Amino acid sequence: MLLGAHMSIAGGMDKAVERGMALSCTAIQLFTKNSNRWNGKTLQSDEVARFLELKKRSGISHVIAHDSYLINLASSSATLRAKSIAALIDEMERCRTLEIPYIVIHPGAHLGSGEDTGIKNITDSLDIILKRTDGWGVDIALETTAGQGTNIGYIFEHLCRIMSGVEEKDRVKTCLDSCHIFAAGYDIGTNEGYHKVANDFNRLIGFDNLVCFHVNDSKKGLGSRVDRHEHIGNGCIGKKFFELLMNDKRFKNIPKIIETPKDKDAKNDKVNLALLKKMAGDAAS
Ligand code: MN
Ligand code: MN
Ligand code: ZN
Repeated sequence: MLLGAHMSIAGGMDKAVERGMALSCTAIQLFTKNSNRWNGKTLQSDEVARFLELKKRSGISHVIAHDSYLINLASSSATLRAKSIAALIDEMERCRTLEIPYIVIHPGAHLGSGEDTGIKNITDSLDIILKRTDGWGVDIALETTAGQGTNIGYIFEHLCRIMSGVEEKDRVKTCLDSCHIFAAGYDIGTNEGYHKVANDFNRLIGFDNLVCFHVNDSKKGLGSRVDRHEHIGNGCIGKKFFELLMNDKRFKNIPKIIETPKDKDAKNDKVNLALLKKMAGDAAS
């Protein structure tokens, strides 16, 4: 089972691996730098060595990066877009150094210029980025969004259009966030709804193009377009979805990462991960 959580890098990149190991994770997600700043401090070679060494003997087979929140490839401001492109390339360079094959990114917010323009800005930006990072072994995973504000990515069609719009199609994959798609209006809480949404995703994007799941319940209702994560089974999506997901053989080899609310001693993560494991185990026995 490829299961884990988003882990803090406070104290060094290797600390994220350490935190993952403490919870017996087999997959983790991390930021490669402070997620609220444009510039990160340069990765030191001893920190990188510690990270790679610990990862090797950690039992964590999948490490996935997430980009910083400031990046907006959909922006129509040439300045902000150039800054975003440079920042994402910098983060992909960090991924290359840390041997992380995928970085999850938010597609972007059009900020009033309209969805068509936003999508065009994203594909143009990605073309520049993919050209500059050719051969690095680091690819993009576009995350589904809740559609808050002017965010693009709240319907699968958006991601599909971006993926078919870029030149290097094989380097743009996806990340499916359960809280986001539910808030965006995909009713995954019932058996029938779950299978319908999975079929829609497979038809438009394809399971082959799915790199990871963000496994989160939602504080807000179906179609609310508000992005607030809740503990597994305690939110508006409810337990049924997570039971279906954890037992869906089609997704057996796709890492599942929780981004549920954190507390000080990682107790929340422990509870959420244990619950998901139990759901998977229950059906297997
Ligand atoms: Mn995200
Ligand atoms: Mn997410
Ligand atoms: Zn979210």
